[in-house]
Amino acid sequence: MKKNVIVMGQLSTAQWSELEQHFQLVELAKPLDLTQPEVRTALDEAHALIGSGLPITTELLDAAPKLEVIATISVGYDNIPVDELTRRGIMLCNTPDVLTETTADTGFALVMATARRVVELAEWVKAGHWQASLGPDMFGSDVNGKTLGMVGFGRIGQAVARRGALGFGMKVLYSNASPKPELEKELGAERRELNELLAEADFVCLTVPLTAETEKLIGAEQLAQMKTSAILINIARGKVVDENALIDALEKGVIKAAGLDVFKQEPLSVSSPLLTMPNVVALPHIGSATHETRQAMAQRAVDNVRLALQGERPISLVNEETWT
Ligand code: NAP
Repeated sequence: MKKNVIVMGQLSTAQWSELEQHFQLVELAKPLDLTQPEVRTALDEAHALIGSGLPITTELLDAAPKLEVIATISVGYDNIPVDELTRRGIMLCNTPDVLTETTADTGFALVMATARRVVELAEWVKAGHWQASLGPDMFGSDVNGKTLGMVGFGRIGQAVARRGALGFGMKVLYSNASPKPELEKELGAERRELNELLAEADFVCLTVPLTAETEKLIGAEQLAQMKTSAILINIARGKVVDENALIDALEKGVIKAAGLDVFKQEPLSVSSPLLTMPNVVALPHIGSATHETRQAMAQRAVDNVRLALQGERPISLVNEETWT
């Protein structure tokens, strides 16, 4: 008898066929409605769940007694109760590595867009305002040669830092749970306490995971430690920043600008003050959103499910304890 897999994310036709060779597939739409009999039946029989933005609750887990593996099509898993999965012996797999470079590209796009006012000035041109040569009030700031402060220096943080150091001659500072001597050697990066990094950096770029420790890591106090000319880039998770404090800081000129791919609540409310600020570049959480990378992430998730259900170690297992 084939094992059952619930799919709640986008798979290519080839990926769907690959999984279908081995397993019985059921596609369910998000958000899951646990009151629907067909949803309850699918969960009751499911051995694996694959998808992005998975709404994993205790109620859902209770309804899925045969679940062996959850494969999220993302590297972040802050929306998933890992300890609860581990307690139940359910493997959690994510998709690191394959999205690192693309997410770093998004981070650097935000660095460039905010510093050189790309979005604001492109809109100004489109609106027909370019009638004479520009004055200093329309100038931006240099990126080359400036100081890039990475808060979080894992896969994505290091990839952003490489762009800055090797492509733009930037000095790299980092604040991270553990030291990274190999990157210090490779990029000349220097480790700093967070408050020191905030005071020195021209660009503060957030790439820490969202955890109890990093929630609101950047609040009013931290923003006040930044230079008034500094720019905040967030490609981590919205909740790493106290969004109200950020709005306040931008309104009062405590910092110069912000480039944001992620927000406290997504989609961002159309009434958010962030949307009316010319010094804010807001993106709709597109860190990894390219055709190539999303395809690679879905493939990693497919591989993880296939291996896990066939009794082999999945490629990217978050809760190692479940393997033993
Ligand atoms: P990673 O390789 O695990 O890097 C995370 C880094 O943060 C690690 O170096 C870790 O330190 C450090 N860290 C963890 N907690 C910390 C703390 N409390 N204080 C200081 N440093 C801390 O993960 P990644 O692949 O780079 O991804 C990072 C995050 O980016 C993901 O969790 C996700 O939320 C976000 N992301 C966003 C998008 C997007 O679309 N915008 C796309 C992909 C990922 P150690 O090295 O010592 O463990």
